Amino acid sequence: MAAPLESEVKTFLKTVANTVLKLDILSYYHDHPFAMDNAEGLARWLNRRTADVVAGLEELTRHGLFSHESEGGSAVYAFQPDEKTAALVERVIASYRLTREAVYTEVLALQEKQDELRREYQRILFTERGRTETILNSLEESVLVLNRTGTVLLANGQFYERFAQAGIAEREGPGLEELAASGEIAGAVRSSIAKIGEESLEETELGHGERFYRLQSTPVTGPDGKVIQGEEGGPAATVTVFRDITREREIERMREDFISMLTHDLRNPLGIIFGSSTLVLDGKLGLLNEKQHKLLSNVVKSCGLMDRLIEDFLTLSKLEAGQLPLSRESVDLNSLLQGVLQMFQPQIAELGLEAGFTTECEEVRVSADLIQLERVVSNLVSNAIKYNREGGRIDVRSFREGNLVKVAVDDTGKGISAEELPYVFEKFRRAAAVEHVKGTGLGLTIAKQLIGAMGGQIKVESEEGRGSRFTFSLPAL
Ligand code: ADP
Repeated sequence: MAAPLESEVKTFLKTVANTVLKLDILSYYHDHPFAMDNAEGLARWLNRRTADVVAGLEELTRHGLFSHESEGGSAVYAFQPDEKTAALVERVIASYRLTREAVYTEVLALQEKQDELRREYQRILFTERGRTETILNSLEESVLVLNRTGTVLLANGQFYERFAQAGIAEREGPGLEELAASGEIAGAVRSSIAKIGEESLEETELGHGERFYRLQSTPVTGPDGKVIQGEEGGPAATVTVFRDITREREIERMREDFISMLTHDLRNPLGIIFGSSTLVLDGKLGLLNEKQHKLLSNVVKSCGLMDRLIEDFLTLSKLEAGQLPLSRESVDLNSLLQGVLQMFQPQIAELGLEAGFTTECEEVRVSADLIQLERVVSNLVSNAIKYNREGGRIDVRSFREGNLVKVAVDDTGKGISAEELPYVFEKFRRAAAVEHVKGTGLGLTIAKQLIGAMGGQIKVESEEGRGSRFTFSLPAL
């Protein structure tokens, strides 16, 4: 370490040799007192810019340490301190060198550390970037990242392949309109970005070539999960993902074709068979013998079952496609339950069953679609009748549980085995034991979907040979 500096040296360092450059200049002339280099030569020697060296020499000249004749880079400076200043410079340089060595060792070590850190940083950056790119390129979806002004920050291989103009891949940071192969693509991206934060669930779709894509844009978030805001508000950057929905569209079209086939090609002829058979059965075209009557009755019954199957199937496909609009009205639940039981009274009586209704709440209203709720209750009561035993009971009960209203339909029928119980709400599931009873296996599936769509739940408890209990809940009004 250098010895404490004398006050004279300190003052000189503060006022005259107050930069490293000036110290280096003095150091040079101290070693070469009669050097006749011009400023340019000295700059090369010190590895500095000529203008800086000239400025340093000028300042030292003003302090009387140098003299020179011409100006600028070609000026030759002569080192001309007076005796006292020369002695002072001697001491300053000596202590400068001492300090410089210590400082240099320190600086070198720091520089080495910095280089090492830089290399490490570049390595991480390189591998992270590589990794991100590999992941993005292996995605099936096309991905595009834009900044606020519409400059492309990143696009994956799939985007370039499907949506970019030919030859654009080599260029850095193009604008969206420049990169996109058509104005339609750019427009779809902008429309998808405009939907960020909107309540609407409608997504932007784009037809391109033979295929269809659904675009979804989200703002870029920081490591804290918050949206990175741009200077003028709004997200600083957005990610747009193009999902290929060609296959989904095809399936949707096939579903629509199938539904239209069911409605027209199957239901209409069925209506004709039903209508004509009923006409003949009623004796409008002449009397039938017993055998003919029985046969034709079976035809009419089968038509009814088939029509129910088509109806159930149509309802279910509409429900699954979210195309069955449900109304929300204030429904008097107890009246509805009693009404349905009333409707089934002839069948109940015919089979020698007994049915009862009880309630724990005088008047209770639920927000539901009246027609569809009637359909659910009818299905449960109809099952309780169909799968009951001779002389059995059916009990319908309503009660409250917190904010919910519950309805339980109990029967004393054959019940459902433990193995089959978990599957009764699945499509076309029918217990082996009920094969002789007519049914479509869709009623409970529809009931579950409908109750779910109305904000409730449906469940079943059953014991084989003793009976079943179907319970559904709905939010009370
Ligand atoms: P479906 O009655 O037309 O067959 P559902 O979807 O209504 O169709 O019922 C599915 C199956 O669940 C029935 O086939 C039957 O095996 C069983 N199931 C439904 N309700 C009852 C019940 N109350 N008692 C016994 N089994 C039942």
